[in-house]
Amino acid sequence: MVLPHEPEFEQALAELTLSLQPFLKANPQYQKALTIVQVPERIIQFRVVWEDDQGRPQVNRGFRVQYNSALGPYKGGLRLHPTVNLSILKFLGFEQTFKNALTGLSMGGGKGGSDFDPKGKSDAEIRRFCVGFMTELSKHIGQDTDVPAGDIGTGGREIGFMFGAYKKLRNEFTGILTGKGLLWGGSKIRPEATGYGVIYYVEHMIAKACPEYSLTKPTTLVAISGSGNVAQYTALKVIELGATVVSLSDSRGSLIATTDKGFSKEVVDKIAGLKLKGGSLESYKDFASETEYAYHAGQRPWKLLPKIHIALPGATQNEVSGDEAEALIAAGTRIVAEGSNMGCTAEAVEIFEKSRKEGKGKGIWYAPGKASNCGGVAVSGLEMAQNSQRLHWTQEEVDAKLKGIMTECYKTCLDVGSKWSGEDLPEGALPSLLFGANVAGFIKVAD
Ligand code: GLU
Repeated sequence: MVLPHEPEFEQALAELTLSLQPFLKANPQYQKALTIVQVPERIIQFRVVWEDDQGRPQVNRGFRVQYNSALGPYKGGLRLHPTVNLSILKFLGFEQTFKNALTGLSMGGGKGGSDFDPKGKSDAEIRRFCVGFMTELSKHIGQDTDVPAGDIGTGGREIGFMFGAYKKLRNEFTGILTGKGLLWGGSKIRPEATGYGVIYYVEHMIAKACPEYSLTKPTTLVAISGSGNVAQYTALKVIELGATVVSLSDSRGSLIATTDKGFSKEVVDKIAGLKLKGGSLESYKDFASETEYAYHAGQRPWKLLPKIHIALPGATQNEVSGDEAEALIAAGTRIVAEGSNMGCTAEAVEIFEKSRKEGKGKGIWYAPGKASNCGGVAVSGLEMAQNSQRLHWTQEEVDAKLKGIMTECYKTCLDVGSKWSGEDLPEGALPSLLFGANVAGFIKVAD
């Protein structure tokens, strides 16, 4: 079904189509594949009725978009958020298809979720919702068919409730979800993987574009948005390596570090605990000093800081506007890499790409989420491989494989971006990772 207007999906499709122009001009035989891949193979929509703590029935919409299975079983997360609709899930499933291709693993693309809002719900309510959701979803997934995972609103707890429900419903212990607990088939590093992967990707970007900065130097300033799974582990990796995290945020506002020390590991750990309970950064005074942090209600971090070297949007789609992109340029930002999916608006991406081209090697170099955040789904792929073998790999093994995948993904984006951007690049300008990611992902799926 095509809705009258699907803004997020249309944005993702327009971006891919634009990136593919030079490639399609030289390879017109791929044109039909572009028409075909934009149509999801299957969309499943269902009703979820669950009981709240007062014993009243509640109802939500459940979805699974099985977008493309050319490269393997459908694979992608489940988003639980009141804004979830088919336009959002179609954009996410579409992006996921090319992202998964960029990991080099055998995974197709899919996405699902519900307009259920986990905020303010008790554990028991979340469990009853998850069981209701899986009662329907279980009819459509399987370890060789479709393997969902976490996304916004779905973390280890929700995956646990859903896995338990599937096991009971089907009397079957198989790896039908990833992001599972370590004792029942989960992989080491899965919770950390998206954030760590962003950093492994960004390390390559820094080495090429601005080696004067380094994630091991405290003078390198890293602004991060979001405070969920992706943002938390992005921040923790930056802190571990030695650079300075200057911001985190949530849907209500931003928390900015006001001293040279930036965010401490302790404060990020406290934020993780707060978020698990559905809390807001507004209450930062409960766990962080007012002399070291400042809260800005209703604002994202991008315009709040005079200096930012690396910006990592890690919250949700379209969280960097055109104005904010200009503010990042003014703050001296050299790298923007998305931990979120389609974290930047089309206007922001256009501004970054122009800055890359015209900045003579000193502008902003932008990496789209389908490349820079593919580490999460990559480790999901490694979890599937471990489940198939009924084996557990060590932390070191998984981390080394994740690093290898991010390195390959970066190299592919760079090579393909150089080859197919169609740009006449001025001296010193870097190739487009946006074009590279889109063309490379598309070729794999189309072939
Ligand atoms: N939701 C994550 C993503 O956007 C992970 C999906 C997965 O692990 O299947 O890539």
